[in-house]
Amino acid sequence: MGGGESSYEEAIAGLSKLLRNNHELLGVAASKINQLTAELGGAVDEDTSEPAAERIRAGFALFKKEKYEKNPELFGQLAKGQSPKFMVFACCDSRVCPSHVLDFQPGEAFMIRNIANMVPPFDPAKYSGVGAAIEYAVLHLKVENILVMGHSCCGGIRGLMSLREDGVTKSAFIEDWVKIGLNAKTKVKSECNDLDLDAQCNMLEKEVVNVSLGNLLTYPFVREAVAKKTLSLKGGHYDFVNGSFELWNLDFNLTPSLKV
Ligand SMILES: [Zn+2]
Repeated sequence: MGGGESSYEEAIAGLSKLLRNNHELLGVAASKINQLTAELGGAVDEDTSEPAAERIRAGFALFKKEKYEKNPELFGQLAKGQSPKFMVFACCDSRVCPSHVLDFQPGEAFMIRNIANMVPPFDPAKYSGVGAAIEYAVLHLKVENILVMGHSCCGGIRGLMSLREDGVTKSAFIEDWVKIGLNAKTKVKSECNDLDLDAQCNMLEKEVVNVSLGNLLTYPFVREAVAKKTLSLKGGHYDFVNGSFELWNLDFNLTPSLKV
């Protein structure tokens, strides 16, 4: 590309203006951005971008044919509203989608997925995204269960286990986020220091779920619903190495009440 950096920046600025002025030109702008990026070094490759779009289209086509069109009653109901019985906290990890692992169907589970499936303590200033979801689930949808679901080989939990003692961080977000589970780490370190790192991480995956269950009780509306027995809090751990799932109730007891 002959124009150098400044003409690239000018072109992008022009496109931004275009996008602001006319939403219908989005497609045109997108193709121009692709063209510019390609000129910069071929970062956009038709052969690699198209399979992604094809995968998305094929996925939706399959869902529409196999689920949407075969369940008109369900999707007719869902078009009017949702009344899920569950709220689920799960990790962002691509291997642990609760809709697959627990077979939740559309309309069944209101979900939050974040790094290491953590529920932060009540703090309107800091964790408003999570707080808004819990508030909506408990006060408006009136979910009957909140499940916090940990999992095996969790990278976020390993990150928490590897946090430096001196507080020095090297990530913009991850380390500060996983610190929500610091109490669990302290407990595992003091009680299971003789275990190897993998075993400690496995313990921590479950202890962090318990910290999250405790944190849920810092939300006044959660506490109230639990006291009224209209809401039950459950911990779970999905092990995809062994293909097992442990489930326990809010009693801070690591001994699972049900093992499948
Ligand atoms: Zn994870």
